[in-house]
Amino acid sequence: MFGIIQRYTHWLHTRWPSGHVERLPAVGENGETNVPGLFVCGDLTGIPLLKFSLDSGVRTVRHIAESPLFSKDSESTPETFDVVIIGAGVSGYAAAVEAKRLGLSYRLLESATPLSTLINFPKQKPIYTYPKEMTPQGELQVSAEIKEALVEELQAQVGQHGIETVEAHAERIEREGKRLKVILSGREPIYGRTVIAALGRSGNHRTLDVPGEDLEKVYNRLYDPKDFRGQ
Ligand SMILES: Cc1cc2nc3c(=O)[nH]c(=O)nc-3n(C[C@H](O)[C@H](O)[C@H](O)COP(=O)(O)OP(=O)(O)OC[C@H]3O[C@@H](n4cnc5c(N)ncnc54)[C@H](O)[C@@H]3O)c2cc1C
Repeated sequence: MFGIIQRYTHWLHTRWPSGHVERLPAVGENGETNVPGLFVCGDLTGIPLLKFSLDSGVRTVRHIAESPLFSKDSESTPETFDVVIIGAGVSGYAAAVEAKRLGLSYRLLESATPLSTLINFPKQKPIYTYPKEMTPQGELQVSAEIKEALVEELQAQVGQHGIETVEAHAERIEREGKRLKVILSGREPIYGRTVIAALGRSGNHRTLDVPGEDLEKVYNRLYDPKDFRGQ
């Protein structure tokens, strides 16, 4: 099943016969990219579904843990984490839970709010957890049928695993010797033996940078048109 979907999305993103299709990074089965030590999981792999995102985060970390990068002669140091995960969405959390379970040192970076893509779904949005027969690898699972319950069940699961996030916006990644340096906006960089880009594809909305835009009555997204009925 995974193979067929992966071949389809590869075709869709690289050979779609008409019009412009947004290009995605070329990613291997376990999230590998052509940059050694840099991995990709979740929506950025091309399959925009919750279950695949969870699954890919876990598979990527398992692959990293088994790779020669983690042989005994290349130990992590207090300044260099085994894995730096960029993005506390569905796939980033799945990766963090698995890293913790496997005893890897990790940091999970989030530039907005953890699970922000899900939190920004419209109010009461129905959730389709396809493929029904698929059980993602790892500890995190989804079964909720509406947005609010989905956010709640995932928050409860990550809470149980004690996964914490660091509020930081990753700007870019540079190689520094054997390790990767993640450059962050307005703060010191962070170093990883490996880095997982779990950024999703929703992006963060642009703000206008004008006085008053942080007031409670100012919205950047339409959650529920009913809230504005008659206004
Ligand atoms: C409107 C909508 C409805 C959907 N409905 C369904 C559905 O019903 N069923 C289903 O299976 N799937 C659905 N999906 C798809 C599902 O939400 C995605 O597959 C899933 O959220 C992808 O997880 P992810 O971890 O790859 O990315 P995301 O969940 O998008 O998480 C990425 C995280 O990375 C953070 N981030 C981004 N850039 C940076 C940076 N530079 N530094 C630090 N952090 C950063 C973001 O703030 C975000 O929190 C829907 C998606 C959308 C947009």
